Amino acid sequence: MQNARPLILVIDDDSLFRQTAKQQLSKLGYQFIEANNGLKGVQLSIQHRPDIILLDDNMPVQGGIETCEIIAKQSAGIFKPQVLMITENDSCSFIDACFHAGAIDYFMKPINWTALKYRAANIIKTMRLEERLKNQTALLDKAHKIAKMAHFNWNLHTDHQLWSKNINQLFNWPEDQPFSIHQLEAVISSSEFSAFNAIKALQAPQSYNFEFCLSSASYRSMCFKVFGELSTNTSNQTIFTATIQDITEKTEQNNTIWQQANFDPLTQLNNRNAFITNLEHDLKLAHYENHSLGIMIIDLDEFKNINDSLGHDVGDLILVAIAQRLKALSAENIGFSRLGGDEFAVLVSNYNDIQELAQLAEKLLIEITKPIVFDRKELSLTGSIGIAIYPNDGEDSSQLLKHADTAMYNAKTNGRNHYAFFDVQMLEQVFLRNQMEQNIRRALSKGEFTLVFQPLIHLSSGRINGIEALIRWFDPEEKRWISPDKFIPTAELSNLISEIDQWVMEELFKQIAQWFIHKPDLDLNKISFNITGRTLSSPAFKSTLESLTLNQNYRPHLNRVALEITERTLFDADKNKEIFDDIRRLGMRIAIDDFGTGFSSLNSLANLPANDILKIDKSFIDRIGTNNKADALIRGIISLANSLEIDVIAEGVETAEQFSFLDQAGCDYIQGYYISKGLNAEAFCSFYDQFTVQ
Ligand code: C2E
Ligand code: CA
Ligand code: CA
Repeated sequence: MQNARPLILVIDDDSLFRQTAKQQLSKLGYQFIEANNGLKGVQLSIQHRPDIILLDDNMPVQGGIETCEIIAKQSAGIFKPQVLMITENDSCSFIDACFHAGAIDYFMKPINWTALKYRAANIIKTMRLEERLKNQTALLDKAHKIAKMAHFNWNLHTDHQLWSKNINQLFNWPEDQPFSIHQLEAVISSSEFSAFNAIKALQAPQSYNFEFCLSSASYRSMCFKVFGELSTNTSNQTIFTATIQDITEKTEQNNTIWQQANFDPLTQLNNRNAFITNLEHDLKLAHYENHSLGIMIIDLDEFKNINDSLGHDVGDLILVAIAQRLKALSAENIGFSRLGGDEFAVLVSNYNDIQELAQLAEKLLIEITKPIVFDRKELSLTGSIGIAIYPNDGEDSSQLLKHADTAMYNAKTNGRNHYAFFDVQMLEQVFLRNQMEQNIRRALSKGEFTLVFQPLIHLSSGRINGIEALIRWFDPEEKRWISPDKFIPTAELSNLISEIDQWVMEELFKQIAQWFIHKPDLDLNKISFNITGRTLSSPAFKSTLESLTLNQNYRPHLNRVALEITERTLFDADKNKEIFDDIRRLGMRIAIDDFGTGFSSLNSLANLPANDILKIDKSFIDRIGTNNKADALIRGIISLANSLEIDVIAEGVETAEQFSFLDQAGCDYIQGYYISKGLNAEAFCSFYDQFTVQ
């Protein structure tokens, strides 16, 4: 076949026949080789692989039938010999024997060379076609293999399926098991198999493509794409013809890309991108199906401080722990995402009652507050949640997000560990808050803040021996005093509070140092100022403390000074423990401000170091004389503190009745309008002088 001119081998012991054959065949354009016996014939046929072999049946030594059999055997798998038996015998048994031995036809002697010419031409044509088909099939198989693809034909009428032979390989299917669509049913999820069932409902002609993945545990998760077309055959039956391609790799790549674009690698939650995509999708659905949808933004309180003071590794650990708890609350209509930093989002795609959202928010707050254990330490934090609902609070994703954010800030302003539903009035508050923040910045940079000092009376000596420094702000633009109760909570929402606290601290120390030089008779040993938890746990505070101790003018006064912190900051505070130790080591004291308004029990007082100070909140003082229980409680606190050697200050004392009650109860110090309001440095000095003279 490699030859351009077909090659014919004549095997006959009759030299005359061979000669005639040679003449005739070369006239017809064939190449010719000859063998005068069967043995040589076998040898030449294996050696030259002729297109056609003319084989005499009747030869001495090795007859035609036997030679034919040997050629067939020896050529197996190498080439396909086309043997034409030449004979004078046309008995049925002989003809049977010929075909049985592997011959494809026979010719009677004397040969009709014209008939042979056409027969040979046909044989060669068929062989060439076969060869071409074989090559094409091989090419197709190779292409299939490269493309990881197979094809099939499915007669929807008879259910007969014809698969390309590489199908088992494509599916990693055992080679000895015939493959069929129905076997796929066992390894695909029923929802995915429905794509196959759907074919039966389709009408020809049309194309139909789909993808499916194997989900059986015993199979690697492989994915396939089917490109099919429906047609009708001559019997008017619908045939589905399709290629099926292994797209596992592409799917995995797509998944990774999708994963990277939509997942937060730290917490394994959806990221902001995915949250917005999902939200927009669900918004459309909510619009068409006319139902409500809610989103929540969860922000961890004081997380920045945790990150700054305990390091990012601990921060990450906390985020992962929180994310896990959130994930556990996921449901069909509830999805969680991490928007970034310490901000998470919840998408509640459908709910019946707004109460459901409130309950979920409460549950989330509880989950967040549960302690997180690391390094054998326990840490508990809180979160603030803002809720916005569609369609009331916004029609699109960006508006809903903005409003949930506003609600979240509102929850934070209301003391953290809260949730809040968005309310239009909050927008006004946001505006005011932004304005307030700007004004505070200006006040800091232009030096608009001042300090006043509210005197404390030491009851047993009757002397003023302490002060609390309080910040004051006269806003020159608004031309009015702005109460700390107004601007401190706003400042606490950002790092502005730390700048304020820092300023107060420095200003106070400057004042103390100045008094020491210019008014040496001023004998104050309880000089306190307010500081917030946020400032305490900021790394900048540590260096401020250091710089105080290094300052020669301030150093001698450290043990006169107390830092007022709320009981929440104190007891909340594994995270602040180190800084409290530092403060105490420097000789400064810690005063627990607003005692009684937080969560701490009397029991927790027992853990305080003896040198600390307790400030009973004004709300208790206000109740003095109004009911016996309140009186008993105050007496109890005072006597407990006395026995623990903790100094007690009663703050917000306004009346003589309160004063004498506290005096009798054994309170150490009194602070309040009954004595004096906060006074500027000069006014305080004259007040002190007058008081001491009395
Ligand atoms: P606080 O620490 O509990 O301070 C006591 C507040 O009660 C002061 O209000 C004080 O003027 C007021 N007060 C004292 N005696 C009486 C009284 O007999 N009757 C009444 N009605 N009020 C009395 P102020 O100065 O407006 O401060 C309010 C809050 O603002 C403070 O509560 C404190 O939490 C915060 N704050 C004030 N100054 C500073 C500061 O320098 N730094 C920080 N971080 N917070 C401050
Ligand atoms: Ca205070
Ligand atoms: Ca207070």
